[in-house]
Amino acid sequence: MATRLVDPTTLRIIHYPHPTLRRPAKTVKRVDEDLVTVVRRMFDLMYAADGLGLAANQVNLPVRLFIVNLKAITKEDKEMVFINPVISRPKGHEEGSEGCLSFPDLYAPVNRAKQIHIQAFTLDGNEINGEMDGFFARVIQHETDHLDGIVFPDRMLPEARLAIRDDLEAFECEFRNDRRAGVIPDTQTIEHELLRWENRYC
Ligand code: ZN
Repeated sequence: MATRLVDPTTLRIIHYPHPTLRRPAKTVKRVDEDLVTVVRRMFDLMYAADGLGLAANQVNLPVRLFIVNLKAITKEDKEMVFINPVISRPKGHEEGSEGCLSFPDLYAPVNRAKQIHIQAFTLDGNEINGEMDGFFARVIQHETDHLDGIVFPDRMLPEARLAIRDDLEAFECEFRNDRRAGVIPDTQTIEHELLRWENRYC
């Protein structure tokens, strides 16, 4: 029997500038019970932090999947898991405010395509295939960016990014302090852990 790679209760949402946020996630080739448990834990962490979406690399896992539940704005309680998402056919663009659980309490305007086509798979292996627009399309673009190592300030116009410079510096300072205190391991240790995940699922 394969050993469990992580105790799901130890998963935490990581904050900018944790290196895993910059590491492109790898295609998921298999789903097992442990991964299902991890996804369940991701939903719990997302709700506890009042979020709408969360990508696997935001909990320090290097696999291409993210979760969404828009209940906070639509009143419809629907848990969605997107595995190996591929965005295509972007149409139009629209500015809107975004936040991110890896940048707590920071909100800023980001330009995104108004409409996109998304193809992905659910945990059960069913295909998701269709056009999305509005806020849902924005969330999908934000989360898919995470899997490519892109965070939302990267998508901001230079003036808007300048306005949040102090906030980013505060996150960087906090990260350095956590590293010094040993709360966050060194990059080599993190990489070693991520490779074990890739070997199992990618
Ligand atoms: Zn985010």
